Amino acid sequence: MIRLRNYIAFIYAFFICITVFVLSAVINMFAEKLFAEYITGNIRLQTEEIIRSFEEQYDPFTARYNRAGIDVIGMHYLHQGYLVSLADAAGRVVWDVRDMDMEECAVIIEEISARMNNEYRAGGSFAPRLHNLVLGNTNIGALRIESYGPFFYRENEAAFLKTLNRFLLVSGAVFVLLSVIVSVCLASVIARPVLRARDAARRIAHGDFSTRIAEGHAARELHELSRAVNGLAEALGNGEEWQKRQSADIAHELRTPLTTLRGNIEAMIDGIWELSPERLESCLEEIVRLSGLVDDIAVLSLIRREHIVLSKTGFDLAHLAARAAEQFVPLAREKGVTLSVNLDPAPVYADYNRIMQVLVNLLSNAVKYTAQGNITVTLHAAASRGGAHHELSVADTGCGIAAEDLPHVFERFFRADRSRSRETGGTGIGLSIAAAIVEAHGGSIRAESAAAPGTGGSVFTATLPADISARQQ
Ligand code: ADP
Repeated sequence: MIRLRNYIAFIYAFFICITVFVLSAVINMFAEKLFAEYITGNIRLQTEEIIRSFEEQYDPFTARYNRAGIDVIGMHYLHQGYLVSLADAAGRVVWDVRDMDMEECAVIIEEISARMNNEYRAGGSFAPRLHNLVLGNTNIGALRIESYGPFFYRENEAAFLKTLNRFLLVSGAVFVLLSVIVSVCLASVIARPVLRARDAARRIAHGDFSTRIAEGHAARELHELSRAVNGLAEALGNGEEWQKRQSADIAHELRTPLTTLRGNIEAMIDGIWELSPERLESCLEEIVRLSGLVDDIAVLSLIRREHIVLSKTGFDLAHLAARAAEQFVPLAREKGVTLSVNLDPAPVYADYNRIMQVLVNLLSNAVKYTAQGNITVTLHAAASRGGAHHELSVADTGCGIAAEDLPHVFERFFRADRSRSRETGGTGIGLSIAAAIVEAHGGSIRAESAAAPGTGGSVFTATLPADISARQQ
């Protein structure tokens, strides 16, 4: 497998080379085309100039051409690539450059033909063109101009084109070289944070959750990659930490009742305690409480492990609250406590069973910790800066919660009054389950109580976002 740095450098350099090549070819093509057009125009102008020069050598009084002048002009244009032959009005050849210097003519024909055919693959040849010479309205002869067609480059023009092409070639090569250097540097810059993330991921895989990498990268994706790796390390670290704490807490919670049970049973076996139905019943109660604790722990660990996967549906929260309250009416009545509801319709998009569990936990606490008076379930719409939401509360006139305990009631295994909650069979998990569920719905939960326990009961309020629009998301 190819290394990331080399791969990026290769791709980058490859595209730059292709671009430079195509660009150079197009520039070269256009430059040659434009230059050929310019040369063709020049040849036309020069042909007109040759004709004019020869016409000027004609003397109308003697009806003859100035021989000395024609010699100079004809030889001059021969060196420019034009082979001229002059005929008088009667059609007699009066001057021909081949008669002047046959050898030079052959050299020039050979030189231009070789240049144009071999270097520029023009595929043309020397061809004559006839032009009439006139003075006023009088025909004074004809000029036969032979040159390489359709156009030809003289030595200096060919040299110019060669220089231009060489310049394109050299600048293209320099650019490609620079691009390769830049692409290697760029590839290293891009690959470095990716390699750092790879190394960090390997360390995390080996259990080093304290691994962190620098996040400040200009490219958003690389910045996000570093953040994701750090987030992963943190989440795994927290998970491990949570698991350790959870195991310690569970061990602690189980140890005490198990030690008590063991002590009681041993005392009965050893005959220290008399075996009586009351003592056995007390042991059974402890066992029932323990199995309740195990059930709660199972729910809690499920919730943590799944990060609470919610299966949301649309329903009326008021309907759910009424059904939950109904379940607790017989229990409340048994204790002589009245249970009333005051519910406004509240359509929500949430996990029905989990929200039901929240309400069951709150109501069972309310019934457990209320000896007399009443329990009220209320549901109202409310609005805050965070948007519209529903406030679902369970208020009781029970023993209340001491101010110093209030901040801890949602912690796992917290019980305000351990001896009392032992009586009530409390495990200290119900509220932490309720809080986890409400928070997974994007809501929050709070507990309020009268300042002194036993004076005014408690109110537990779950705030759930009015999440109807979530259905469309
Ligand atoms: P538990 O199973 O012990 O009730 P919870 O997590 O449901 O566990 O509650 C934690 C603690 O909060 C309880 O032990 C109790 O001391 C206190 N608490 C909860 N609800 C009430 C309430 N309605 N009135 C008084 N105290 C409460």
